[in-house]
Parts: sequence; structure tokens; C-alpha cells
Amino acid sequence: MTTTRWVLADQLGEHFHGDAAHIVIIEAKDLFRSTKYHRQKAHLVLSAMRHLAAERAENATYVRADSFAMGLASIAGPLEVVAPQSRSASGVVGHVQQQGRELSVLPARGFITSEAEFQSWVADRGKRRLLLEDWYRTVRVAHGVLIEDGEPAGGRWNFDEENRQPPPRGAATLGLPLPWTPVEDEIDRQVRLDLDAWESEGIEFFGADGPRRFPVTRDEAHAALTDFVEHRLAEFGPFEDALLSEDWLMAHSGLSVPMNLGLIHPREVVQAAEESWINGRAPIASVEGFIRQILGWREYVWHLYWHFGPSYVDRSNALDAHEPLPRWFSEASADEVTAHCLSWALTEVHDKGWTHHIVRLMILGNWALQRGYDPAEMTRWFQRTFVDGYPWVMAANTVGMALFADGGEMSTKPYAAGGSYINKMTNLCAGCRYKPTVRVGAEACPFTAGYWNFLHVNQEKLAGNHRMSMALAGLRKLGDREALIAQEAERGNSAP
Ligand SMILES: Cc1cc2nc3c(=O)[nH]c(=O)nc-3n(C[C@H](O)[C@H](O)[C@H](O)COP(=O)(O)OP(=O)(O)OC[C@H]3O[C@@H](n4cnc5c(N)ncnc54)[C@H](O)[C@@H]3O)c2cc1C
Ligand code: SF4
Repeated sequence: MTTTRWVLADQLGEHFHGDAAHIVIIEAKDLFRSTKYHRQKAHLVLSAMRHLAAERAENATYVRADSFAMGLASIAGPLEVVAPQSRSASGVVGHVQQQGRELSVLPARGFITSEAEFQSWVADRGKRRLLLEDWYRTVRVAHGVLIEDGEPAGGRWNFDEENRQPPPRGAATLGLPLPWTPVEDEIDRQVRLDLDAWESEGIEFFGADGPRRFPVTRDEAHAALTDFVEHRLAEFGPFEDALLSEDWLMAHSGLSVPMNLGLIHPREVVQAAEESWINGRAPIASVEGFIRQILGWREYVWHLYWHFGPSYVDRSNALDAHEPLPRWFSEASADEVTAHCLSWALTEVHDKGWTHHIVRLMILGNWALQRGYDPAEMTRWFQRTFVDGYPWVMAANTVGMALFADGGEMSTKPYAAGGSYINKMTNLCAGCRYKPTVRVGAEACPFTAGYWNFLHVNQEKLAGNHRMSMALAGLRKLGDREALIAQEAERGNSAP
């Protein structure tokens, strides 16, 4: 009897199932009952699973069930599954095995580096910190990416000096061609009808319903990759940290979505970017900056998810941040918010279920850090809200990078930024009722006041961090510190 492969919702590309004669995909409705997802996240996942079933036609069985257990019960014979990419899915697989079902687990497939490689790197470091930069260089050499005669291509590992520029002055967009977007089809139409029906049964979603902006098939993923490499990659480096209000994608790729659905292998993306540099179509600074995101960051946070252990998200709260997410934030309803940058970011989240990196870090994460939002709750929020959000990628990014809740296991200092930095890197302050340089009074920028208040509240916890010493010295010199602290205490957890 042939073994059927159970394909999970983040394992939808050929590299996960191309070698399986028959696959089963289970759409388990109870997952949507237990968590309130962004509507576009639910749409994207269902659409992608149903597209795969349609593509594989008679070689696929698509089961709609209340739970995985009920779905599996309808499938006869032995099963196999590629190692799940989250602890919760691993738990489901373990439970099924315990029930006596024949279910074998194949090694993980969706990443460029193996767990053995990461563990060997960790062992070599001894007591030294697990620095991204060192991991990234090790992987570049080991996999021969952007390496010439044993040296980094272009003569340097890092092109930060050329990259990370502010946006062009006076511009509302980068002026690049409009990005690739999919054409919705009959499957999308049916998903929309089904989600409407689920809503009328009482299953709750939030956020705008479509249009779908991201790939759900391998062909669509390749179209998005080609479009990015041709039209945006060359500008990636200079503007990777910039934000313009009329340009939702900037020079980013949007490829986190198809990569995290497992539609396209990260190696394919890295190779396409490297070839673009070899062929002289994109400069080394941009190509290196982009490859660093995937070969460096993406692989790094994947391994950290397993390395930090199951309790990382819930045990990490180094800054004692316990504020619950207010409803206007958690449901991304910008109407109550007057601070232009935050209201703009929440509108993006509401309308698209996605923002580029700097919006997540500099606006949403920075706000949550300053206001002491609970890190575990924030992690779950990102996960159920963002169309590319999965436990393995959220944990280190939210707890470690954005909120410094692990006390420095991942980042060397908190990413706290005031209004002046936001003003430098975006065009948002021009349309705001507040002024980025003002910290007290009616025109006080909530991010600038929030920055100083954050330092005040956490000064003892941050005192031993030498990278914070200049900032804390600045705090001690503030003439209006008392007024600022009183103002921020009064603001509390209300919408700015
Ligand atoms: C608070 C916070 C939450 C985040 N949540 C997610 C998430 O849910 N899912 C997700 O995939 N990424 C997440 N990231 C990382 C990053 O913001 C997104 O991967 C990126 O914005 C996706 O857009 P893009 O595909 O256009 O990326 P690009 O800018 O085009 O970068 C290329 C690729 O690099 C990878 N990458 C870049 N930065 C990171 C990173 N820090 N960690 C892991 N991979 C990275 C992604 O796969 C991305 O597609 C988060 C970052 C922060 C600070
Ligand atoms: S002034 Fe402050 S609140 Fe307004 S957009 Fe700029 S950073 Fe945001």
C-alpha cells in the first residue's frame, strides 16, 4: 500500500510533497474557532491549500473536518508527514501517533541550513553570544553564497553605509513599477463565500476582506519573485529602513508570504538574487542586504525558535511589561488614533494583514515597547494578524528584536525610537497634529514622549547595558522630565 503524505498548511510547495504519490490536506475548522484571525490570513491559507488540492487533482484528497483528528479518521492506511514547523503542529502529530495511528515523520525541509549546522555553530561559540552577524558569515562561507575566492563578494560583509538611507525628500513613493499582484479566481470566490458563512455561524475574524495581494500557488510565487528581482531588488538596500505613506511595499519583496506557506524554497530566492548581481542587474549592496535577510535572519530566527525552547515566549518578560493590548490596537482600528504614524500603520494592518519590516519594528513594535504591552500577547497578536505570521518567526522577532523581553538573548539593546527618528525615516510626520521634536504639551509627539518615559521607567533595568549609557545620560539631563513623566502617566494606555 502506498503511503499518503499529510501536507500541512505551511508545506504547500513541491519541495514538501513533489516526491509523494498521494497527498492529503486537512482543513480543520476548529482552528478558526479558537483564535480570532485577520480575515485575509484565513483567506490566504484556505486559498493556498485548496489551490494545491486542485493542482494535484486525483493525486490529492482534500478533507474538510472539524478537527485534524476527525479529518485523519477519514483517511485509510499509513501516513507520513514532513516535520512540522511549529510546536503546536508537532504536538498534534505526536498525539496522533500516541493514538496508535501509523504516521512517520520525515526530516524538516523548508530551510537552507540544518539543525545540525546550527548546533555545531552554537557549540563552536562556547560562551560567546549567538550573534546574527557571525551566524550569517558562517552560513555564507559554508554554502558559498556571495563568496569569491573565499572572500565576501564586493570585498565587504556589510554594506550598511550605502544601505539604510532615509526616503527621497518630498516623495510619496519610490517611483518603482507597481508590484505584481494576483488575479483572484473561482477558488478565491468560494473561500470568500465559505468565510462569510463561517462568520454567520459565529466564527470571528477582523480586518478588511481582501483583495488577495500575495501568492497562493508556486506559479504565482515565481511570478512575484521575478517581478521583485526585475523591478525592486536594486533599490532594496538603500531604502530597506525607509517608509513612504503611499508605497506599501517600497523596495521589499513580499516574499515572506509564499516562503512561509512553503510554496517556494528560500534557496530559490537567494539564488535568484545572487544571479541578479552576477549578471550585473543589481548592485552588491542591495543584493547582500537582501540575502542577509534570508540566509541570515530567516534561518537564524528559525533555529532560535527551537533553540530557545518551548517556554521562551511566556517566560521572557525582562522589562516587566504587563499592559494588555487595548482593543483599538489589537483590532487595528485606527479611527481612535490621532498620531499619524500609528494610525497609518494600523490602517495598513487592517486593510492588508501585512506591513513591511520597518513598520513592524519602528512603529508597531516600538509603540508596544514604549507602552509596556505584554510580550506574549504581542507575539500572539502578530501571529494571528499578519498573513506571514507563524510561531517560529514571531517568537524571536517580537520577544527578542522588537520588545527586548528576553533581556538581550537576541538583541544587544532595546529598539526604542523617538519621533525624530521616525521623522527622518518616513514622510508621516508632515501630516501629523503632533511635532516630532516636542515632548511635553499639546503638540508633544507620543513617540518622543514615550521614548523618554520608557527610559525613565526602565532606567534601572537598562543601567548595566553600555549601549544604553548615552541615552540614559540624556534622560538625566532632561529639564522637563517631571512634567513629561506626569503627562505620560496621565496618557496611560489610551490611544494617542
Ligand atoms: C515585530 C516583528 C514581527 C515580525 N513578524 C514576522 C512574521 O510574522 N513573519 C515573517 O516572515 N517575518 C516577520 N518579521 C520579519 C520581517 O519583518 C518580515 O519577514 C518581512 O517584513 C517580510 O516582508 P518581505 O517579504 O517584503 O521582506 P524583505 O524585506 O523583502 O526581506 C526578504 C525576506 O527576508 C526574510 N526576513 C527579513 N527579516 C526577517 C526577520 N527579522 N526574521 C525572519 N525573516 C526575515 C523574510 O523571509 C523576507 O521575506 C517580523 C519582524 C518584526 C520586527
Ligand atoms: S509627530 Fe510623532 S506621532 Fe506624529 S507622525 Fe511623527 S512620530 Fe508619529
